[in-house]
Amino acid sequence: MATHDRYPLMFSPLDLGFTRLKNRVLMGSMHTGLEDIEGGFERMAAFFAERARGGVGMIITGGIAPNHEGGGGAKLSTPQEAAQHRIVTEAVHAADPDVKIVMQILHAGPLAGTPACVAPSAVRSRIGRFVPNELDADGIEKQLADFANCASLARAAGYDGVEIIGSAGYLLSTFLVEKTNTRTDEWGGSFENRMRFPVEVIRRARAAVGDDFILIFRIPAMDMLDGGMSGDEVIQLAKAVEAAGATIISTHFTWHEAQVPTIATMVPRAAFAEVTGRIRSHVTVPMITSNRINMPDVVEQVLAAGHADLVSMARPMLADADLVNKAYEGREDEINTCIACNQACLDHTFTGRLTSCLVNPRACNETLIVPQPTTRPRDLAVVGAGPAGLAFATEAAQRGHKVTLYDAAAEIGGQFNLARRVPGKEEFSETLRYFRRMIEKLGITLRLNTRVDADMLAAAGHDEVIVATGIRPRVPDVAGIDHPKAVGYIDAIMGRRDIGKRVAIMGAGGIGFDVATLITHAGPSAAMDIPTFCREWGVDFAGHPRGGVTGIAPQIEHAGREVTILQRRDGAPGRSLGKTTGWTHRLSLQRRGVKLLGGVTYLRIDDAGLHCLVNGEPRLFAVDTVIVCAGQEPERSLYDALIARGVPAQLVGGAQEAGELDAKRAIAEATALALAA
Ligand code: FAD
Ligand code: NAP
Ligand code: SF4
Repeated sequence: MATHDRYPLMFSPLDLGFTRLKNRVLMGSMHTGLEDIEGGFERMAAFFAERARGGVGMIITGGIAPNHEGGGGAKLSTPQEAAQHRIVTEAVHAADPDVKIVMQILHAGPLAGTPACVAPSAVRSRIGRFVPNELDADGIEKQLADFANCASLARAAGYDGVEIIGSAGYLLSTFLVEKTNTRTDEWGGSFENRMRFPVEVIRRARAAVGDDFILIFRIPAMDMLDGGMSGDEVIQLAKAVEAAGATIISTHFTWHEAQVPTIATMVPRAAFAEVTGRIRSHVTVPMITSNRINMPDVVEQVLAAGHADLVSMARPMLADADLVNKAYEGREDEINTCIACNQACLDHTFTGRLTSCLVNPRACNETLIVPQPTTRPRDLAVVGAGPAGLAFATEAAQRGHKVTLYDAAAEIGGQFNLARRVPGKEEFSETLRYFRRMIEKLGITLRLNTRVDADMLAAAGHDEVIVATGIRPRVPDVAGIDHPKAVGYIDAIMGRRDIGKRVAIMGAGGIGFDVATLITHAGPSAAMDIPTFCREWGVDFAGHPRGGVTGIAPQIEHAGREVTILQRRDGAPGRSLGKTTGWTHRLSLQRRGVKLLGGVTYLRIDDAGLHCLVNGEPRLFAVDTVIVCAGQEPERSLYDALIARGVPAQLVGGAQEAGELDAKRAIAEATALALAA
């Protein structure tokens, strides 16, 4: 059996009549930020070409605005701008002439971030910076003409197609719902009228590009808004878009301002695919599904269930450019899986930084991070198999160094072994599976259950020691910190100590929130069980009420603990959490009754509980357990001893700097160090 026979549907071509897609996997659109920087198109060309070589059938670029009012960044409205794109289309076609490259046209409407932004009505988005300018009849005509112009310029630039985004709270979608479209002319009122603009955009674009050009419409399949589109309206729109000339319909879920997580790691894999499947049964054009589909077996299951004709994998292509080839060759266990953390992709996009990937720092840096075989292979010891040690060891071994990796623990992973125990972070296990396989494949000598010291390393005679020994939990200087009620977060997560019914958590960083999630959790993890996810977030995939949201109060099974998260800093705890995922953690804990409190001074822990000053007022938290999540200090004792003995050593990861350390920084720094080794 050829290895790709495991995924017969994934690797079957799709005939579009005038052209053919070589398989059923596409790289979905992501804004990388490269569109907007000097030399960005060259970097984009390398980024996309690497994915084309990696086996994907079709690539969709990040969003490009059709005009200046449609977005603050890159736009395509002139032949001069089209010329810039040539380098991208040529690079992809040179990498593999069989791979299609499609440009996404994104008119952000009220989210365009410019005072010139436009919308059907002057309704400001909850997350928009400006009240949009209401389009008059001429304005609407101009927008339609600009879409058509942009599509035909994309064709001139060498693209195989365009995708027009009609969802997410961007211009087209704001025509579709009453909350943002209060017009009384032919572009507002009945649904027939409200869908007129998106349908007309497709019709004009088709007329502009001719019949032999891929035209994808990204439909708001479930907008997650109170009073959003009904299931019937979505189907009506899909049929109209098909009739207007779309080649493919791609389903998109949620508006940016909605309050249901749709791509975070707490969302079950392929949770939304059945919604695509329902729409698919009403149209004849191929349908694309997406969201949390990160491994080839999930792709195959979605296709086998008849939910879609094509599967979009966006972030998984940041994490591993070779994902599709690895599936084809039966090397699935070598896939560096996207863990849906959003930390280096979406969080970067929404804070104006270039996109990359936590598990793959080369993503979007292909021209800057160029691994080369070493010219002087050395014998390197790496101490600590947390994310930093693992990234260093694999990168250094790949370059030709002889690597021995030591860890005191019985398994690799360091703190990732704590993280993956938190409900909603199950995906973190995939990163460890990937590294386990790479250790084996690259012939790294792995010494687990081995706490090393300077004498042992000096005797082993390695050329250099990379010290990736991580952190020590900070022990705050509070009276009674050694009282039996006080428990460290490692013991709490590993279940080594009993946790009472009433709990105070000292420290409101990511770990404080994760510990609160873990100790309030009961029942199946929503990330692993679609019905639980639906109950917890008030979503109904099958019935598809308006917006897909039930309006019923979320039903959350929880452990019945009374938990308060405390921090010394003033203000609401949780500010340090990720830009695009922090709100989901805060909301989810609030729904479990967890209280958040800032402005706390810790006085002492005793038999009565935790004594504090809250905004200057004395207060006793009469709790059974105080879990200490007060940050970390670098664990450098080994490094200091090595230096004292004159053994060449370098620090990396938490051992170097524990403040604000996360796995993104640990992996990125370790990769950089290994490239220089
Ligand atoms: P560590 O992961 O601490 O690894 C150090 C390793 O060194 C350990 O395995 C230890 O056993 C070993 N070691 C130490 N001394 C010796 C010795 N003398 N001999 C042999 N071995 C030794 N980060 C994120 O980016 N996103 C998240 O969502 C996230 N969630 C988290 C959730 C929890 C509950 C926790 C605890 C952490 C989370 N983190 C998260 C943080 C992330 O895990 C750390 O930033 C990362 O693990 C640091 O990597 P490191 O390799 O520097 O150190
Ligand atoms: P952190 O984010 O630095 O938070 C530490 C908390 O302890 C803060 O609330 C801090 O707030 C408090 N603190 C600091 N010094 C203290 C002291 N001396 N006494 C009492 N309280 C003190 O660190 P963390 O929660 O330990 O997480 C470690 C790293 O892991 C973080 O940098 C984070 O990036 C990463 N992580 C990320 C995620 C994620 O979901 N992305 C999840 C978990 C962990 P006050 O000083 O105001 O009290
Ligand atoms: Fe996936 Fe996280 Fe990488 Fe983004 S940063 S692509 S979510 S692993």
